[in-house]
Amino acid sequence: MLRGIVLFILFTQVTGRRWGSLCAGNPTNRVRGSDTWGSGAYGAPRGSRTHKGVDVVCSDGSDVYAPFDGTLVRRANPYSRSNAINNGVMLRGSGYCVKIFYIQPQSYSGNVAKGETIGQLLRMQSVYPGITSHVHIQMCDTSVDPTPNL
Ligand SMILES: [Zn+2]
Repeated sequence: MLRGIVLFILFTQVTGRRWGSLCAGNPTNRVRGSDTWGSGAYGAPRGSRTHKGVDVVCSDGSDVYAPFDGTLVRRANPYSRSNAINNGVMLRGSGYCVKIFYIQPQSYSGNVAKGETIGQLLRMQSVYPGITSHVHIQMCDTSVDPTPNL
């Protein structure tokens, strides 16, 4: 029994598949590499600051899915000044609290199941031409790297 639990924990650590897919067309949660706008990795430089989340590749207009069972808490914006992609949502549940940016959420409240469509990716190319379009996901506690959960 104990050995089974240990093996299960090791397996989930190795495979890193605690969360479900975030975006239609990217079942493995492939992370944005470097493009002319920067890297999608957690902690990557953003001018004098650092990237507080991780970017999962996603095409403009694609369906975005809940990565785990949880409750939509409220709207969460990536920017203080508005633009075409300044929208997102906070999701809490299953032991996690995250913010998901650059999506048009279908709702800002209520329960969602892992894999359920929660919105669509906004028109990122209209704001950052040539960027690898992506969903940005960060922990509510941004000192924690979300990448191992992908
Ligand atoms: Zn990002």
